[in-house]
Amino acid sequence: MLDIFVFVLSFPLHSFEFSTFLSTFAFNLIRPTNKELVTMLLKDINIGSHSVLLLDRDGVINKLRHKDYVKVWEEFEFLPCVKETIAKWSNQLRYIFVVTNQRGVSKGKMTEEALVEVHRRMVEEIVDAGGFITKIYYCTALTDEDPNRKPNPGMFHQIQRDYPDVKQSECVMIGDSKSDEDFAKNCGIDFIYSTNEE
Ligand SMILES: [Mg+2]
Repeated sequence: MLDIFVFVLSFPLHSFEFSTFLSTFAFNLIRPTNKELVTMLLKDINIGSHSVLLLDRDGVINKLRHKDYVKVWEEFEFLPCVKETIAKWSNQLRYIFVVTNQRGVSKGKMTEEALVEVHRRMVEEIVDAGGFITKIYYCTALTDEDPNRKPNPGMFHQIQRDYPDVKQSECVMIGDSKSDEDFAKNCGIDFIYSTNEE
């Protein structure tokens, strides 16, 4: 009898701990970490409580061009549902940055002016769909040693310099390559793997 009494007395505590456990468990299910990589279409990604999003460009926003670069706007093709998904996220995010390696410029495949024009048109279409892009960071460096070329964290340091209120803990990077994953790791931020396969 005493045992039952003690159990009843302590039940609210158990109940609280159990609900905390459940919510932590549920949160971990939707919150991908570097240890628990998930592979999914952009539209199916749950960015959880993150308020700052870093997006890779090629293979995440637009279709990859096999062994080629997007050299002009006419070669840029949005992946399905990307504009709508960014528009949806735009309601809950403080900042959305694009971080992209574009060494085609240094290789002479396209001009930096053409790259800037591609980005201008890309942002225009995202805005027309109801979304926003805070700023696009790109690295045209040829060598992998360049501090700004992913997976090196230089572009994230630029973000932190330009937006000092950005904290690592509130950032999530979405990318389609090991380089993006390593970039996120080097920045100390969460990472979600997105596939461009429909
Ligand atoms: Mg990519």
